[in-house]
Amino acid sequence: MLNDQELLRYSRQILLAHIDIEGQLRLKDSRVLIVGLGGLGAPVALYLAAAGVGELHLADFDTVDLTNLQRQIIHDTDSVGMSKVDSAIKRLAAINPEIQLVAHRTALDEDSLAAAVAGVDLVLDCSDNFSTREAVNAACVLAGKPLVSGAAIRLEGQLSVFDPRRPESPCYHCLYGHGSEAELTCSEAGVVGPLVGLVGSLQALEALKLLAGFGEPLVGRLLLIDALGSRFRELRVKRDPGCSVCGPKHA
Ligand SMILES: [Zn+2]
Repeated sequence: MLNDQELLRYSRQILLAHIDIEGQLRLKDSRVLIVGLGGLGAPVALYLAAAGVGELHLADFDTVDLTNLQRQIIHDTDSVGMSKVDSAIKRLAAINPEIQLVAHRTALDEDSLAAAVAGVDLVLDCSDNFSTREAVNAACVLAGKPLVSGAAIRLEGQLSVFDPRRPESPCYHCLYGHGSEAELTCSEAGVVGPLVGLVGSLQALEALKLLAGFGEPLVGRLLLIDALGSRFRELRVKRDPGCSVCGPKHA
């Protein structure tokens, strides 16, 4: 049940018929894994903590650097040099003492990633590189856990939801697994803070919808954000029946 403090804290979203007390209880009973506490993970963790998601599992092996602070708004100047997980825990615990925070401070290998994914209801990929994205996707397909995936580089953002519980849903590899242009990172290509904030906020929103059970999730659709022209576009994306990760040979 929800205590009086929780009823007050979450009152503005409980007011929504789509969430109500039942949805709030579902959020309280939910466990999510956030992979990466950078520009995307920052708003994701802040909003999910504030919304009362019961357990946030936070994974990042990096430490806070001065160059992060332009966009990674969960960290502050006093946290430079501190592990990103500890820096995030400090901020999240201050926002919402009602939730549980679980730390993964070391890099996750295949086994520890599988265990981390198995221990949650939903995963948010907020990482910044292709190999992590592929590994997180494979672990989610194997465990049958929904994955909210976001990315932002320069002035472009992308967002989609992959849900192996739905037979029609593609996985990350169906979309991106066929080799693409050379991998870019924000440290090389640059990025603006509000764009990663926007993509991360949309990831948090998709997670709340999936966990509380309302709305239409971004499954089978890829949202493309063009910050330069202030345009949102949507592409239909299909499951690849020959996909080496979610295809029938590997199911
Ligand atoms: Zn696939």
